Amino acid sequence: MRAHFVLQILASDLLKVPTSTHRDLRMKKLDSLRQTLAVATAKANHSSCQHLPLDDQRDFEAAQWGKIADLPAGGVPAPDGRTAWNIAEYDFLDEDCPETVNPSLWRMAQLNKISGLFEVSDGIWQARACDYANMTIIRGESGWILVDPLMTKQTSAAALQMVNEALGERPVSAIILTHTHPDHFGGLKGVTGENPESYPPIYAPAEFMTYAASEGIFGGNQMARRAIYQFGLTLPIGPDGTVDGGIGKSPAKGQRTFVEPNFFIEKTGETQKIDGVNFIFQMASGTEAPAEFTFMLPDHKVLCMAEVCTQTMHNALPPRGAQVRDTLLWARTIDEAIGLFSADADILINCHNWPVWGKANVLTYLEEQRDIYKYIHDQSLRLANHGHTPNEIAEQIAEPDWLCEKFHARGYYGSLKFNARAVYQMYYGFYDGNPVNLHPLSPQKLGARMVDAVGGVEAALQNCRKAIENDDLQWAATLLSHVVFSPAATDEARLMLAEVYRHLGYREESGILRNAYLMGAKELSEGINPIPMVGGRNEELATALSLQDWFDAYAIRLNPDRARDANVILNFKIEEETACVCVARQTEFARINHQSADADLKIIIRKQQLEALASGKLSMEVAIDEGVQVEGAISLCQEWLNLHDNFDLWFNVVTP
Ligand SMILES: [Zn+2]
Repeated sequence: MRAHFVLQILASDLLKVPTSTHRDLRMKKLDSLRQTLAVATAKANHSSCQHLPLDDQRDFEAAQWGKIADLPAGGVPAPDGRTAWNIAEYDFLDEDCPETVNPSLWRMAQLNKISGLFEVSDGIWQARACDYANMTIIRGESGWILVDPLMTKQTSAAALQMVNEALGERPVSAIILTHTHPDHFGGLKGVTGENPESYPPIYAPAEFMTYAASEGIFGGNQMARRAIYQFGLTLPIGPDGTVDGGIGKSPAKGQRTFVEPNFFIEKTGETQKIDGVNFIFQMASGTEAPAEFTFMLPDHKVLCMAEVCTQTMHNALPPRGAQVRDTLLWARTIDEAIGLFSADADILINCHNWPVWGKANVLTYLEEQRDIYKYIHDQSLRLANHGHTPNEIAEQIAEPDWLCEKFHARGYYGSLKFNARAVYQMYYGFYDGNPVNLHPLSPQKLGARMVDAVGGVEAALQNCRKAIENDDLQWAATLLSHVVFSPAATDEARLMLAEVYRHLGYREESGILRNAYLMGAKELSEGINPIPMVGGRNEELATALSLQDWFDAYAIRLNPDRARDANVILNFKIEEETACVCVARQTEFARINHQSADADLKIIIRKQQLEALASGKLSMEVAIDEGVQVEGAISLCQEWLNLHDNFDLWFNVVTP
C-alpha cells in the first residue's frame, strides 16, 4: 500500500530554502505564472465557444416545461447531520459565466440546475435535479409506479413526499429499475419502506443481479477513489470548484440501500401491464450499462430511453473506470428504438436531464444520439486502421460539423477524445503495438530519469515555466508530473502542477473532466483530505451478491506473501447454500454448492455475518456469541481472515 502524501505548506521546502530572498523569488515566479494562466484561460474560454449558439433558449424552455413543485427549501438532510441534497448550493449559476468555467459547460450547468417536479404528460411526471438522476412517476390504477428511485434513501423519500404533496397521497404500486447503476436504485428503501412484507413488485432487466453489485465490487476500491475524482466529491461547489456532472449535478450524499427486484424483463418486444399501465420493453444491455432496458408507454405515447440517451454525449468509458462500453451496439440499439417506437412517440424522457417534446424532435434527437456513438466508433477505428495509436487518435479525431448546433450530443459528461481512446481499448486493449510499451517504466522510475535527462529539477521547472508562458499546458503538466513522481520532487513543482491542472480544469467542457483536474490540483496543493465518504460501500447491495461473486471479491484481497505457506480448506454453510474455499499456491478459490471431505474447518454462518467478519466490523468472539458455528479450530478461521488485505480508499493519485 502506498503511503499517504501529506503536503504541509508550513513545513514545505518552499520555506526551508536558505534565504527568504530565494523563497520570495519563487513565490513571485509562481504568482506570475498564476496571472499568465488566468489571462490565457479567460481568452481560451472566450474563444472556445464562439461557434456555439449559447443564447439558444430552446433547451431552457424544454427543461422548465410543466413544472409544478419544488423540494422543500433548506435541502434534504443526511443521517449524519450533513446535507444529502440541496440544489440551492448551485445558486451561483444564476450569475454570468465566470472566467473559471467553460461557457458551454456553464450553460449545461444552468440547465441541470432546473429542479423540482414536472408534468411530462397526463399521468406522467418527473422529479428532476432532486439527486443525480431523475425519478419518473407514472399514475397506475392503484398507486404510483416509480421509475429509478434515485441514489439515496433520503433523496428518494423527499422526492416521493414532494409527489404526494403535489398530486395527492397514493401508495407505491410498482418500481421499475431501468439499469444496474446505483444512481438509479440506491434510494429504493426511501420509497419501499423497511418492511419486506409491503415491498411493491420491482421490475428490472434480466441479469440485473449479476451486474448491479459485481460491477462495482471487484474493482470497487479503485473505482470508488476514482469516482471521487470524477464527481469532485471533496471539491467545493462553486465557480472555482464543481459546477456540473453532465447528466446531472452530483451524486447525493445520503444512505444507499437495496431491495432485490423480483420481476425480470428478458427480451425486446416484451409487454407488461403494470398496475394497469401498458409497457413495451426494449433490451439495451451492453450499451450504457451491462443490464438495461428502455420502454414505451403506448397509451401515453411517451418513450423512456433510460440512460441510453441523455442530453449529452455519454461515456464509452467513464474516468472512474468500468468495463469499456460498446459504442457500435449503443448506436444499433438507438436505431432499433427508432424503428420500434419513434412513429408513436410524442414525448421522449430519459433517466437524466430533461425531455424532448414533439414527434419530429424525438426522431431527430434519436438519430443524432445514434450518430454520435456511431461516429465515435467508426472514426476511432478508421484512424486505428490507418495505423494510429490511442493518443494519436485522440489528437486527430475531429468534432463532426453538426455538433456545434446540437448541444445534446456534446461532451458534458463523456468527451470525444476520451471516448475515442475507449473505442481503441475495446478493440485492441491497452497495448498500442509499440514494443517500447511492452514493459514501460513505472511513473516513479520514469520521473527520476526524465528529471536527470533534462538536467535536474531546476532545468525541468524552467522548461515548464516556458511551456506555461507558451500556453502549452499539456506538455507543462506532463513534465511537471514527471518531476512530482521523481525523488527530486519539490513543493514548488507540486504547486506549479496544481496550477496547471486547475486551469486545464477551468477550460474543460466536460463537467467530470473538470472535476478530475480540480481534484488533482486540490490534492497536490493541500494533500489528501479524507472525509466520511458519501455513500461509500453499499452493504445491503454487497450482501445481495451471489455467493460466488462474494467469495471471488474476497479472494481479491488475498495477500500472497502472507498466504505463502497457507494450505487450508474451509467448508461453509451459508443459509441455504454451501461453499468450499481452498487457499493453496498463494491463491484462493471458492467452489459453490460443494463441500470437501478434506476440509480443515466447517463454518455455519449467515451472509451478513460473513460480510461483517470480512469487513472487520465483527470479531470472531462476537460472531460465536451471535450463533456462528465453527467445527474445528476457531483460530484457523481467524488465520484465514488474516490472510486478507484491507483496502484504503484514500490512496495517492497525483503523487507517488
Ligand atoms: Zn445514471
